[in-house]
Amino acid sequence: MSTPFDDFASLSLDDARTLVNGAEALLERALERARALTGNGKAIDDHQVTTERVAYAATEGRAARALVERTARIAAEGRADRSLELLTLAGCAELVASLRGRVDQALSELGLVESDLDAAFPAPLRALLRRAGSEALLRALGQQQIERRGRSDLPLDETLEQIRESVREFAEQEVAPHAEHIHRRDDLVPEAFIRKMGELGYFGLSVPEAYGGHEMGNLAMILTTEELSRASLAAAGSLITRPEILTKALLQGGTDEQKRAWLPRIASGELMVGISVTEPDVGSDVASVKCRAERATVGGREGFLINGPKSWCTFAGRADVLALLARTDPDPASGARGLSLFIVPKDSFPGHDFEMKQPGGGRIVGKADATPGYRGMHSFTLSLESYFVPAENLVGGEAGLGKGFYLQMGGFAAGRLQTGGRAIGLGQAALEKTCEYVEGRKQFGRPIGSYQLTRFVIGRMAARLAGARAITYAAAEAFDEDERSAAPLAAQAKLLACDVAVAITQDGQVLHGGWGYAEEYPISRYVVDAQVLPIFEGVRPILELKVVGRALLGG
Ligand SMILES: Cc1cc2nc3c(=O)[nH]c(=O)nc-3n(C[C@H](O)[C@H](O)[C@H](O)COP(=O)(O)OP(=O)(O)OC[C@H]3O[C@@H](n4cnc5c(N)ncnc54)[C@H](O)[C@@H]3O)c2cc1C
Repeated sequence: MSTPFDDFASLSLDDARTLVNGAEALLERALERARALTGNGKAIDDHQVTTERVAYAATEGRAARALVERTARIAAEGRADRSLELLTLAGCAELVASLRGRVDQALSELGLVESDLDAAFPAPLRALLRRAGSEALLRALGQQQIERRGRSDLPLDETLEQIRESVREFAEQEVAPHAEHIHRRDDLVPEAFIRKMGELGYFGLSVPEAYGGHEMGNLAMILTTEELSRASLAAAGSLITRPEILTKALLQGGTDEQKRAWLPRIASGELMVGISVTEPDVGSDVASVKCRAERATVGGREGFLINGPKSWCTFAGRADVLALLARTDPDPASGARGLSLFIVPKDSFPGHDFEMKQPGGGRIVGKADATPGYRGMHSFTLSLESYFVPAENLVGGEAGLGKGFYLQMGGFAAGRLQTGGRAIGLGQAALEKTCEYVEGRKQFGRPIGSYQLTRFVIGRMAARLAGARAITYAAAEAFDEDERSAAPLAAQAKLLACDVAVAITQDGQVLHGGWGYAEEYPISRYVVDAQVLPIFEGVRPILELKVVGRALLGG
Protein backbone atom coordinates (compact mmCIF):
# COMPACT_ATOMS: atom_id res chain seq x y z
CA MET A 1 0.00 0.00 0.00
CA SER A 2 1.38 3.43 -0.88
CA THR A 3 1.85 6.14 1.76
CA PRO A 4 2.38 9.88 1.35
CA PHE A 5 6.01 9.28 2.29
CA ASP A 6 7.02 6.80 -0.45
CA ASP A 7 8.84 9.50 -2.41
CA PHE A 8 11.19 10.21 0.48
CA ALA A 9 12.63 6.74 1.04
CA SER A 10 16.17 8.02 0.62
CA LEU A 11 15.89 10.53 3.49
CA SER A 12 16.85 9.47 7.00
CA LEU A 13 17.54 10.78 10.48
CA ASP A 14 21.24 10.82 9.57
CA ASP A 15 20.42 13.55 7.06
CA ALA A 16 18.92 15.62 9.86
CA ARG A 17 22.14 15.10 11.85
CA THR A 18 24.21 16.19 8.85
CA LEU A 19 22.19 19.40 8.57
CA VAL A 20 22.54 20.16 12.25
CA ASN A 21 26.29 19.54 12.15
CA GLY A 22 26.62 22.03 9.27
CA ALA A 23 24.52 24.56 11.16
CA GLU A 24 26.63 24.18 14.28
CA ALA A 25 29.85 24.70 12.31
CA LEU A 26 28.46 27.98 10.98
CA LEU A 27 27.17 29.02 14.39
CA GLU A 28 30.54 28.38 15.95
CA ARG A 29 32.15 30.81 13.49
CA ALA A 30 29.36 33.36 13.99
CA LEU A 31 29.56 33.17 17.77
CA GLU A 32 33.34 33.45 17.74
CA ARG A 33 33.06 36.62 15.62
CA ALA A 34 30.18 38.02 17.71
CA ARG A 35 32.26 37.54 20.88
CA ALA A 36 35.13 39.43 19.30
CA LEU A 37 32.80 42.16 18.01
CA THR A 38 31.14 42.72 21.38
CA GLY A 39 34.26 42.29 23.55
CA ASN A 40 32.89 39.05 24.99
CA GLY A 41 29.43 40.47 25.40
CA LYS A 42 30.46 43.71 27.11
CA ALA A 43 29.43 45.86 24.14
CA ILE A 44 26.21 44.06 23.17
CA ASP A 45 24.34 47.37 23.22
CA ASP A 46 26.65 48.71 20.51
CA HIS A 47 25.75 45.71 18.33
CA GLN A 48 22.18 44.90 19.28
CA VAL A 49 20.92 43.84 15.87
CA THR A 50 23.84 41.52 15.17
CA THR A 51 23.58 40.08 18.69
CA GLU A 52 19.87 39.50 18.16
CA ARG A 53 20.49 37.68 14.88
CA VAL A 54 23.21 35.50 16.31
CA ALA A 55 21.28 34.75 19.53
CA TYR A 56 18.20 33.75 17.56
CA ALA A 57 20.22 31.68 15.11
CA ALA A 58 21.86 29.88 18.04
CA THR A 59 18.42 29.24 19.51
CA GLU A 60 17.27 27.69 16.26
CA GLY A 61 20.43 25.59 16.16
CA ARG A 62 19.80 24.41 19.72
CA ALA A 63 16.22 23.47 18.84
CA ALA A 64 17.36 21.52 15.77
CA ARG A 65 19.91 19.61 17.89
CA ALA A 66 17.26 18.88 20.53
CA LEU A 67 14.84 17.66 17.87
CA VAL A 68 17.23 15.25 16.22
CA GLU A 69 18.50 13.92 19.55
CA ARG A 70 15.02 13.28 20.93
CA THR A 71 13.90 11.43 17.82
CA ALA A 72 17.15 9.44 17.81
CA ARG A 73 16.41 8.37 21.40
CA ILE A 74 12.90 7.31 20.42
CA ALA A 75 14.26 5.50 17.35
CA ALA A 76 16.83 3.66 19.48
CA GLU A 77 13.88 2.23 21.47
CA GLY A 78 12.28 1.15 18.19
CA ARG A 79 9.37 3.57 18.71
CA ALA A 80 9.96 6.14 15.93
CA ASP A 81 7.68 5.67 12.96
CA ARG A 82 8.58 6.99 9.54
CA SER A 83 6.42 10.09 9.87
CA LEU A 84 8.22 11.10 13.08
CA GLU A 85 11.60 10.74 11.36
CA LEU A 86 10.46 12.82 8.41
CA LEU A 87 8.80 15.44 10.63
CA THR A 88 12.11 15.68 12.48
CA LEU A 89 13.99 16.13 9.24
CA ALA A 90 11.57 18.80 8.00
CA GLY A 91 11.65 20.55 11.39
CA CYS A 92 15.45 20.59 11.35
CA ALA A 93 15.45 21.90 7.77
CA GLU A 94 13.10 24.77 8.75
CA LEU A 95 15.32 25.73 11.68
CA VAL A 96 18.60 25.32 9.83
CA ALA A 97 17.46 27.29 6.76
CA SER A 98 16.27 30.09 9.01
CA LEU A 99 19.48 30.23 11.04
CA ARG A 100 21.58 30.18 7.89
CA GLY A 101 19.58 33.16 6.60
CA ARG A 102 20.11 35.08 9.84
CA VAL A 103 23.87 34.55 9.80
CA ASP A 104 23.90 35.49 6.11
CA GLN A 105 22.18 38.78 6.95
CA ALA A 106 24.78 39.57 9.61
CA LEU A 107 27.73 38.41 7.51
CA SER A 108 29.50 41.72 6.99
CA GLU A 109 28.88 42.97 10.57
CA LEU A 110 30.42 39.74 11.81
CA GLY A 111 33.41 40.19 9.50
CA LEU A 112 32.63 36.96 7.67
CA VAL A 113 32.57 36.40 3.91
CA GLU A 114 30.63 34.23 1.45
CA SER A 115 33.27 31.52 1.60
CA ASP A 116 32.62 31.13 5.36
CA LEU A 117 28.98 30.37 4.57
CA ASP A 118 30.03 28.00 1.77
CA ALA A 119 32.52 26.21 4.01
CA ALA A 120 29.77 25.37 6.51
CA PHE A 121 27.18 24.72 3.81
CA PRO A 122 28.93 23.32 0.74
CA ALA A 123 26.78 22.57 -2.35
CA PRO A 124 25.85 18.96 -1.32
CA LEU A 125 24.66 20.20 2.08
CA ARG A 126 22.65 22.98 0.46
CA ALA A 127 21.05 20.40 -1.82
CA LEU A 128 20.20 18.24 1.21
CA LEU A 129 18.70 21.28 2.95
CA ARG A 130 16.47 21.89 -0.09
CA ARG A 131 15.35 18.24 -0.16
CA ALA A 132 14.67 18.08 3.56
CA GLY A 133 12.72 21.34 3.49
CA SER A 134 11.05 20.65 0.16
CA GLU A 135 7.46 21.61 -0.38
CA ALA A 136 6.76 18.02 -1.42
CA LEU A 137 7.81 16.68 1.99
CA LEU A 138 5.94 19.41 3.86
CA ARG A 139 2.83 18.74 1.77
CA ALA A 140 3.04 15.02 2.55
CA LEU A 141 3.43 15.78 6.25
CA GLY A 142 0.52 18.21 6.06
CA GLN A 143 -1.67 15.58 4.42
CA GLN A 144 -0.87 13.15 7.18
CA GLN A 145 -1.48 15.76 9.89
CA ILE A 146 -4.92 16.45 8.42
CA GLU A 147 -5.69 12.72 8.36
CA ARG A 148 -4.74 12.31 12.02
CA ARG A 149 -6.35 15.65 12.97
CA GLY A 150 -3.02 17.08 14.07
CA ARG A 151 -2.87 14.86 17.16
CA SER A 152 0.55 14.42 18.70
CA ASP A 153 1.60 11.62 21.00
CA LEU A 154 5.36 11.82 21.09
CA PRO A 155 6.63 8.59 22.69
CA LEU A 156 7.83 9.15 26.25
CA ASP A 157 8.63 6.88 29.15
CA GLU A 158 5.68 5.08 30.68
CA THR A 159 5.20 7.35 33.70
CA LEU A 160 5.32 10.51 31.61
CA GLU A 161 2.86 9.07 29.10
CA GLN A 162 0.48 8.27 31.96
CA ILE A 163 0.78 11.81 33.30
CA ARG A 164 0.09 13.26 29.85
CA GLU A 165 -2.90 10.99 29.40
CA SER A 166 -4.46 11.80 32.73
CA VAL A 167 -3.96 15.59 32.40
CA ARG A 168 -5.34 15.42 28.86
CA GLU A 169 -8.45 13.66 30.10
CA PHE A 170 -8.97 16.27 32.83
CA ALA A 171 -8.33 19.18 30.43
CA GLU A 172 -10.64 17.85 27.72
CA GLN A 173 -13.46 16.97 30.08
CA GLU A 174 -13.32 19.71 32.67
CA VAL A 175 -11.57 22.73 31.14
CA ALA A 176 -12.19 22.76 27.38
CA PRO A 177 -16.01 22.94 27.59
CA HIS A 178 -15.77 26.22 29.56
CA ALA A 179 -12.81 27.87 27.83
CA GLU A 180 -14.77 29.85 25.23
CA HIS A 181 -17.28 31.13 27.73
CA ILE A 182 -14.59 32.35 30.14
CA HIS A 183 -12.77 34.11 27.30
CA ARG A 184 -15.77 35.83 25.77
CA ARG A 185 -17.20 37.04 29.09
CA ASP A 186 -13.82 37.75 30.62
CA ASP A 187 -14.92 35.67 33.61
CA LEU A 188 -12.67 34.62 36.44
CA VAL A 189 -11.23 31.10 36.37
CA PRO A 190 -13.92 28.90 38.00
CA GLU A 191 -13.20 27.76 41.55
CA ALA A 192 -13.94 24.20 40.42
CA PHE A 193 -10.83 24.24 38.18
CA ILE A 194 -8.67 25.39 41.07
CA ARG A 195 -10.13 22.84 43.47
CA LYS A 196 -9.71 19.92 41.09
CA MET A 197 -6.26 20.96 39.94
CA GLY A 198 -5.28 21.20 43.60
CA GLU A 199 -6.65 17.71 44.29
CA LEU A 200 -4.79 16.35 41.27
CA GLY A 201 -1.54 17.87 42.56
CA TYR A 202 -0.89 20.23 39.63
CA PHE A 203 0.18 23.13 41.85
CA GLY A 204 2.81 21.04 43.61
CA LEU A 205 4.69 19.65 40.63
CA SER A 206 7.89 21.42 41.63
CA VAL A 207 7.36 21.17 45.39
CA PRO A 208 9.40 18.41 47.04
CA GLU A 209 7.45 15.65 48.78
CA ALA A 210 8.90 16.75 52.11
CA TYR A 211 6.86 19.94 51.72
CA GLY A 212 3.67 18.25 50.59
CA GLY A 213 4.34 18.36 46.85
CA HIS A 214 4.43 15.81 44.08
CA GLU A 215 7.81 16.65 42.57
CA MET A 216 7.90 14.65 39.36
CA GLY A 217 10.57 16.55 37.49
CA ASN A 218 10.33 19.43 35.09
CA LEU A 219 9.24 17.40 32.06
CA ALA A 220 6.16 16.23 33.96
CA MET A 221 5.48 19.88 34.78
CA ILE A 222 5.84 20.81 31.10
CA LEU A 223 3.54 18.01 29.93
CA THR A 224 0.93 19.07 32.47
CA THR A 225 1.21 22.69 31.36
CA GLU A 226 1.05 21.71 27.71
CA GLU A 227 -2.14 19.70 28.08
CA LEU A 228 -3.84 22.33 30.25
CA SER A 229 -2.87 25.10 27.80
CA ARG A 230 -4.18 23.05 24.90
CA ALA A 231 -7.59 23.41 26.56
CA SER A 232 -7.11 27.00 27.75
CA LEU A 233 -3.97 29.09 28.08
CA ALA A 234 -5.53 31.58 30.47
CA ALA A 235 -7.98 29.53 32.47
CA ALA A 236 -5.81 26.47 33.11
CA GLY A 237 -2.26 26.33 31.65
CA SER A 238 -1.23 29.62 33.20
CA LEU A 239 -2.69 28.85 36.62
CA ILE A 240 0.40 26.88 37.57
CA THR A 241 2.93 29.50 36.42
CA ARG A 242 2.70 31.65 39.52
CA PRO A 243 2.99 28.82 42.07
CA GLU A 244 5.96 27.54 40.02
CA ILE A 245 7.74 30.92 40.21
CA LEU A 246 7.22 31.38 43.95
CA THR A 247 8.06 27.74 44.67
CA LYS A 248 11.41 28.02 42.87
CA ALA A 249 12.22 31.31 44.63
CA LEU A 250 11.40 29.77 48.04
CA LEU A 251 13.37 26.60 47.35
CA GLN A 252 16.32 28.70 46.26
CA GLY A 253 16.32 31.32 48.99
CA GLY A 254 13.58 30.77 51.54
CA THR A 255 14.32 29.84 55.14
CA ASP A 256 13.36 26.34 56.34
CA GLU A 257 10.53 27.88 58.31
CA GLN A 258 9.23 29.69 55.22
CA LYS A 259 9.41 26.54 53.11
CA ARG A 260 7.45 24.65 55.77
CA ALA A 261 4.92 27.46 56.12
CA TRP A 262 4.20 28.21 52.46
CA LEU A 263 5.08 25.30 50.20
CA PRO A 264 2.46 22.77 51.41
CA ARG A 265 -0.29 25.37 51.04
CA ILE A 266 0.92 26.30 47.55
CA ALA A 267 1.17 22.64 46.55
CA SER A 268 -2.38 21.86 47.65
CA GLY A 269 -3.84 24.84 45.80
CA GLU A 270 -5.03 26.35 49.08
CA LEU A 271 -3.05 29.49 48.28
CA MET A 272 -3.29 31.17 44.89
CA VAL A 273 -0.29 33.32 44.04
CA GLY A 274 0.26 36.57 42.10
CA ILE A 275 3.70 37.75 41.01
CA SER A 276 4.22 41.49 41.33
CA VAL A 277 7.41 42.82 39.78
CA THR A 278 6.39 45.14 36.93
CA GLU A 279 5.55 48.79 37.65
CA PRO A 280 4.00 51.46 35.45
CA ASP A 281 7.47 52.90 34.71
CA VAL A 282 9.54 49.76 35.24
CA GLY A 283 9.32 46.71 33.00
CA SER A 284 12.36 45.01 31.53
CA ASP A 285 14.77 46.99 33.69
CA VAL A 286 13.78 45.08 36.82
CA ALA A 287 16.78 46.39 38.78
CA SER A 288 15.14 49.83 38.85
CA VAL A 289 12.02 48.73 40.72
CA LYS A 290 10.87 51.68 42.82
CA CYS A 291 8.08 50.30 45.04
CA ARG A 292 9.43 50.78 48.58
CA ALA A 293 9.44 48.53 51.65
CA GLU A 294 10.41 50.32 54.87
CA ARG A 295 10.82 48.84 58.31
CA ALA A 296 7.99 49.54 60.71
CA THR A 297 6.31 48.17 63.81
CA VAL A 298 2.56 47.96 63.52
CA GLY A 299 0.36 46.69 66.37
CA GLY A 300 3.51 45.46 68.13
CA ARG A 301 4.66 43.41 65.11
CA GLU A 302 7.94 43.96 63.33
CA GLY A 303 7.70 44.22 59.62
CA PHE A 304 7.68 46.44 56.54
CA LEU A 305 5.32 49.02 55.10
CA ILE A 306 5.01 48.76 51.34
CA ASN A 307 4.29 51.82 49.21
CA GLY A 308 4.12 52.26 45.48
CA PRO A 309 2.35 51.34 42.27
CA LYS A 310 2.64 48.00 40.50
CA SER A 311 1.25 46.99 37.13
CA TRP A 312 0.32 43.87 35.19
CA CYS A 313 -0.03 41.69 38.26
CA THR A 314 -1.89 38.68 36.87
CA PHE A 315 -4.45 37.04 39.17
CA ALA A 316 -3.86 39.72 41.83
CA GLY A 317 -7.58 39.85 42.63
CA ARG A 318 -8.14 36.15 43.27
CA ALA A 319 -4.68 35.57 44.72
CA ASP A 320 -4.24 34.96 48.44
CA VAL A 321 -0.59 36.06 48.38
CA LEU A 322 1.52 38.27 46.14
CA ALA A 323 5.22 37.57 45.65
CA LEU A 324 6.24 41.21 45.47
CA LEU A 325 9.61 42.73 44.64
CA ALA A 326 10.28 45.96 46.53
CA ARG A 327 13.16 48.31 47.22
CA THR A 328 14.50 47.93 50.76
CA ASP A 329 17.58 50.08 50.15
CA PRO A 330 16.22 53.57 49.35
CA ASP A 331 19.38 54.55 47.48
CA PRO A 332 18.47 54.10 43.78
CA ALA A 333 22.20 53.55 43.09
CA SER A 334 21.91 50.25 44.97
CA GLY A 335 20.09 48.92 41.86
CA ALA A 336 19.44 45.19 41.95
CA ARG A 337 21.23 44.86 45.31
CA GLY A 338 18.62 47.09 46.96
CA LEU A 339 15.67 44.81 46.18
CA SER A 340 14.00 42.21 48.37
CA LEU A 341 11.23 39.71 47.77
CA PHE A 342 8.15 39.65 50.03
CA ILE A 343 5.24 37.29 50.40
CA VAL A 344 2.32 39.68 50.78
CA PRO A 345 -0.87 38.10 52.16
CA LYS A 346 -4.19 39.57 51.07
CA ASP A 347 -7.84 38.62 50.85
CA SER A 348 -9.14 36.97 47.71
CA PHE A 349 -11.49 39.01 45.50
CA PRO A 350 -13.54 37.67 42.60
CA GLY A 351 -14.08 40.80 40.47
CA HIS A 352 -12.18 43.08 38.12
CA ASP A 353 -11.35 45.55 40.88
CA PHE A 354 -10.82 45.40 44.61
CA GLU A 355 -9.79 47.32 47.67
CA MET A 356 -8.08 45.53 50.54
CA LYS A 357 -7.91 47.46 53.81
CA GLN A 358 -5.82 46.56 56.84
CA PRO A 359 -6.91 47.48 60.38
CA GLY A 360 -3.79 49.67 60.73
CA GLY A 361 -4.77 51.77 57.68
CA GLY A 362 -2.72 50.05 54.97
CA ARG A 363 -4.43 49.24 51.70
CA ILE A 364 -4.05 47.72 48.27
CA VAL A 365 -6.26 48.97 45.47
CA GLY A 366 -6.41 46.88 42.29
CA LYS A 367 -8.04 47.35 38.90
CA ALA A 368 -7.83 44.87 36.04
CA ASP A 369 -6.63 46.20 32.68
CA ALA A 370 -8.82 45.06 29.81
CA THR A 371 -6.94 42.84 27.33
CA PRO A 372 -7.93 41.25 23.99
CA GLY A 373 -6.84 37.80 25.13
CA TYR A 374 -5.31 35.93 28.09
CA ARG A 375 -8.59 36.39 29.93
CA GLY A 376 -9.73 34.47 32.95
CA MET A 377 -7.04 35.47 35.44
CA HIS A 378 -7.12 39.25 34.86
CA SER A 379 -3.98 41.38 35.11
CA PHE A 380 -4.16 44.24 37.60
CA THR A 381 -2.68 47.67 38.12
CA LEU A 382 -2.09 47.93 41.86
CA SER A 383 -1.49 50.71 44.30
CA LEU A 384 -0.02 49.79 47.68
CA GLU A 385 -0.31 52.36 50.46
CA SER A 386 1.44 51.69 53.77
CA TYR A 387 0.53 48.03 53.39
CA PHE A 388 2.00 46.09 56.31
CA VAL A 389 3.88 42.83 55.76
CA PRO A 390 5.33 40.98 58.79
CA ALA A 391 9.11 40.59 58.92
CA GLU A 392 8.85 36.79 58.62
CA ASN A 393 7.46 37.27 55.09
CA LEU A 394 10.74 38.67 53.77
CA VAL A 395 11.91 35.73 51.62
CA GLY A 396 15.16 34.41 53.11
CA GLY A 397 14.63 36.33 56.38
CA GLU A 398 17.26 38.95 57.26
CA ALA A 399 19.72 37.11 55.01
CA GLY A 400 17.31 37.66 52.13
CA LEU A 401 17.58 41.43 52.40
CA GLY A 402 18.93 42.69 49.06
CA LYS A 403 18.61 39.23 47.45
CA GLY A 404 15.17 39.76 45.93
CA PHE A 405 16.39 40.42 42.40
CA TYR A 406 18.37 37.18 42.27
CA LEU A 407 15.55 35.12 43.77
CA GLN A 408 13.09 36.68 41.36
CA MET A 409 15.37 35.94 38.41
CA GLY A 410 15.60 32.30 39.55
CA GLY A 411 11.82 32.24 39.67
CA PHE A 412 11.61 33.83 36.22
CA ALA A 413 13.88 31.15 34.74
CA ALA A 414 11.30 28.59 35.92
CA GLY A 415 8.50 30.79 34.60
CA ARG A 416 10.18 30.92 31.19
CA LEU A 417 10.55 27.18 31.02
CA GLN A 418 6.90 26.81 31.95
CA THR A 419 5.94 29.36 29.32
CA GLY A 420 7.60 27.18 26.68
CA GLY A 421 5.10 24.50 27.73
CA ARG A 422 2.23 26.98 27.58
CA ALA A 423 3.23 27.98 24.03
CA ILE A 424 3.46 24.45 22.66
CA GLY A 425 0.11 23.52 24.22
CA LEU A 426 -1.53 26.50 22.55
CA GLY A 427 0.23 25.77 19.25
CA GLN A 428 -0.94 22.17 19.44
CA ALA A 429 -4.54 23.30 19.92
CA ALA A 430 -4.26 25.57 16.85
CA LEU A 431 -2.84 22.76 14.72
CA GLU A 432 -5.61 20.36 15.74
CA LYS A 433 -8.49 22.78 15.21
CA THR A 434 -7.05 23.84 11.85
CA CYS A 435 -6.69 20.24 10.63
CA GLU A 436 -10.29 19.62 11.65
CA TYR A 437 -11.51 22.74 9.88
CA VAL A 438 -9.72 22.26 6.55
CA GLU A 439 -11.09 18.75 6.27
CA GLY A 440 -14.68 19.91 6.64
CA ARG A 441 -14.58 23.20 4.72
CA LYS A 442 -15.15 22.94 0.96
CA GLN A 443 -14.40 25.59 -1.66
CA PHE A 444 -14.37 25.22 -5.46
CA GLY A 445 -15.94 21.80 -4.94
CA ARG A 446 -13.13 20.33 -2.82
CA PRO A 447 -12.16 20.26 0.85
CA ILE A 448 -9.63 23.06 1.32
CA GLY A 449 -7.39 20.49 3.03
CA SER A 450 -6.91 18.77 -0.32
CA TYR A 451 -5.15 21.81 -1.82
CA GLN A 452 -1.37 21.79 -2.06
CA LEU A 453 -0.84 25.09 -0.31
CA THR A 454 -3.07 24.15 2.64
CA ARG A 455 -1.19 20.90 3.13
CA PHE A 456 2.14 22.70 2.85
CA VAL A 457 1.16 25.30 5.48
CA ILE A 458 -0.10 22.60 7.85
CA GLY A 459 3.04 20.51 7.32
CA ARG A 460 5.15 23.56 8.18
CA MET A 461 3.03 24.31 11.26
CA ALA A 462 3.67 20.76 12.51
CA ALA A 463 7.39 20.92 11.67
CA ARG A 464 7.82 24.21 13.56
CA LEU A 465 5.88 22.92 16.52
CA ALA A 466 8.10 19.83 16.64
CA GLY A 467 11.20 22.06 16.99
CA ALA A 468 9.57 24.19 19.70
CA ARG A 469 8.51 21.09 21.61
CA ALA A 470 11.96 19.53 21.37
CA ILE A 471 13.84 22.53 22.78
CA THR A 472 11.27 22.93 25.56
CA TYR A 473 11.57 19.27 26.60
CA ALA A 474 15.37 19.54 26.41
CA ALA A 475 15.27 22.61 28.66
CA ALA A 476 13.03 20.76 31.13
CA GLU A 477 15.48 17.86 31.35
CA ALA A 478 18.43 20.23 31.70
CA PHE A 479 16.54 22.03 34.49
CA ASP A 480 16.34 18.74 36.39
CA GLU A 481 20.14 18.54 36.26
CA ASP A 482 21.03 22.10 37.23
CA GLU A 483 18.55 24.98 37.24
CA ARG A 484 21.14 27.72 37.23
CA SER A 485 23.11 26.54 34.23
CA ALA A 486 19.92 25.60 32.36
CA ALA A 487 18.42 29.10 32.72
CA PRO A 488 19.67 30.34 29.30
CA LEU A 489 18.30 27.22 27.61
CA ALA A 490 14.94 27.80 29.31
CA ALA A 491 15.00 31.35 27.91
CA GLN A 492 15.78 29.97 24.44
CA ALA A 493 12.88 27.53 24.72
CA LYS A 494 10.55 30.35 25.74
CA LEU A 495 11.81 32.59 22.95
CA LEU A 496 11.35 30.07 20.16
CA ALA A 497 8.20 28.34 21.40
CA CYS A 498 6.34 31.64 21.89
CA ASP A 499 7.23 32.86 18.40
CA VAL A 500 6.15 29.52 16.96
CA ALA A 501 2.84 29.76 18.82
CA VAL A 502 2.24 33.24 17.38
CA ALA A 503 3.14 32.11 13.85
CA ILE A 504 1.11 28.93 13.79
CA THR A 505 -1.99 30.33 15.45
CA GLN A 506 -2.00 33.00 12.72
CA ASP A 507 -1.42 30.41 9.99
CA GLY A 508 -4.35 28.49 11.43
CA GLN A 509 -6.50 31.62 11.52
CA VAL A 510 -5.86 32.37 7.84
CA LEU A 511 -6.73 28.78 6.95
CA HIS A 512 -10.07 29.34 8.69
CA GLY A 513 -10.71 32.32 6.37
CA GLY A 514 -13.38 34.71 7.69
CA TRP A 515 -14.47 32.22 10.35
CA GLY A 516 -11.00 32.48 11.82
CA TYR A 517 -11.91 36.00 12.83
CA ALA A 518 -15.22 34.97 14.38
CA GLU A 519 -15.34 34.51 18.14
CA GLU A 520 -17.41 31.41 17.47
CA TYR A 521 -14.27 29.52 16.41
CA PRO A 522 -11.59 28.90 19.05
CA ILE A 523 -8.78 29.77 16.62
CA SER A 524 -9.64 33.46 17.12
CA ARG A 525 -9.02 33.00 20.86
CA TYR A 526 -5.78 31.15 20.24
CA VAL A 527 -4.48 34.06 18.14
CA VAL A 528 -5.13 36.72 20.79
CA ASP A 529 -3.90 34.45 23.57
CA ALA A 530 -0.67 33.67 21.70
CA GLN A 531 0.16 37.33 21.21
CA VAL A 532 0.94 37.84 24.88
CA LEU A 533 3.47 35.00 24.94
CA PRO A 534 6.47 36.91 23.49
CA ILE A 535 5.74 39.80 25.88
CA PHE A 536 5.57 38.45 29.41
CA GLU A 537 8.21 36.45 31.31
CA GLY A 538 10.80 38.59 29.49
CA VAL A 539 9.79 40.47 26.36
CA ARG A 540 11.42 39.02 23.22
CA PRO A 541 14.19 41.64 22.62
CA ILE A 542 15.28 41.48 26.25
CA LEU A 543 15.51 37.69 26.20
CA GLU A 544 17.48 37.83 22.96
CA LEU A 545 19.95 40.48 24.08
CA LYS A 546 20.20 40.26 27.85
CA VAL A 547 19.59 36.61 28.59
CA VAL A 548 20.45 34.49 25.54
CA GLY A 549 22.89 36.97 23.96
CA ARG A 550 24.78 37.51 27.21
CA ALA A 551 24.93 33.80 28.00
CA LEU A 552 26.31 33.00 24.54
CA LEU A 553 28.71 35.90 24.22
CA GLY A 554 29.86 35.92 27.82
CA GLY A 555 28.84 39.45 28.85
C1 LIG B 1 -1.07 40.09 30.01
C2 LIG B 1 0.16 40.39 30.79
C3 LIG B 1 0.37 39.76 31.99
C4 LIG B 1 1.50 40.06 32.76
N1 LIG B 1 1.65 39.48 33.99
C5 LIG B 1 2.62 39.91 34.81
C6 LIG B 1 2.69 39.46 36.17
O1 LIG B 1 1.88 38.63 36.61
N2 LIG B 1 3.63 40.00 36.98
C7 LIG B 1 4.53 40.94 36.55
O2 LIG B 1 5.35 41.40 37.34
N3 LIG B 1 4.51 41.37 35.25
C8 LIG B 1 3.58 40.88 34.39
N4 LIG B 1 3.52 41.34 33.09
C9 LIG B 1 4.46 42.36 32.66
C10 LIG B 1 5.48 41.86 31.67
O3 LIG B 1 6.37 40.98 32.29
C11 LIG B 1 6.15 43.10 31.06
O4 LIG B 1 5.18 43.69 30.21
C12 LIG B 1 7.40 42.77 30.31
O5 LIG B 1 8.40 42.35 31.19
C13 LIG B 1 7.93 43.96 29.52
O6 LIG B 1 7.99 45.11 30.29
P1 LIG B 1 7.29 46.46 29.75
O7 LIG B 1 5.90 46.11 29.37
O8 LIG B 1 7.49 47.52 30.74
O9 LIG B 1 8.08 46.79 28.42
P2 LIG B 1 9.43 47.63 28.31
O10 LIG B 1 10.44 47.12 29.26
O11 LIG B 1 9.10 49.08 28.35
O12 LIG B 1 9.88 47.21 26.86
C14 LIG B 1 9.16 47.63 25.71
C15 LIG B 1 10.02 47.40 24.48
O13 LIG B 1 11.14 48.26 24.58
C16 LIG B 1 12.25 47.67 23.99
N5 LIG B 1 13.40 47.68 24.93
C17 LIG B 1 13.39 47.85 26.27
N6 LIG B 1 14.63 47.83 26.75
C18 LIG B 1 15.45 47.65 25.72
C19 LIG B 1 16.86 47.52 25.57
N7 LIG B 1 17.71 47.59 26.61
N8 LIG B 1 17.35 47.31 24.34
C20 LIG B 1 16.55 47.23 23.26
N9 LIG B 1 15.22 47.33 23.34
C21 LIG B 1 14.67 47.55 24.54
C22 LIG B 1 11.90 46.30 23.56
O14 LIG B 1 11.58 46.30 22.19
C23 LIG B 1 10.64 45.99 24.33
O15 LIG B 1 9.88 45.10 23.60
C24 LIG B 1 2.44 40.99 32.28
C25 LIG B 1 2.25 41.61 31.04
C26 LIG B 1 1.13 41.32 30.30
C27 LIG B 1 0.92 42.02 28.99
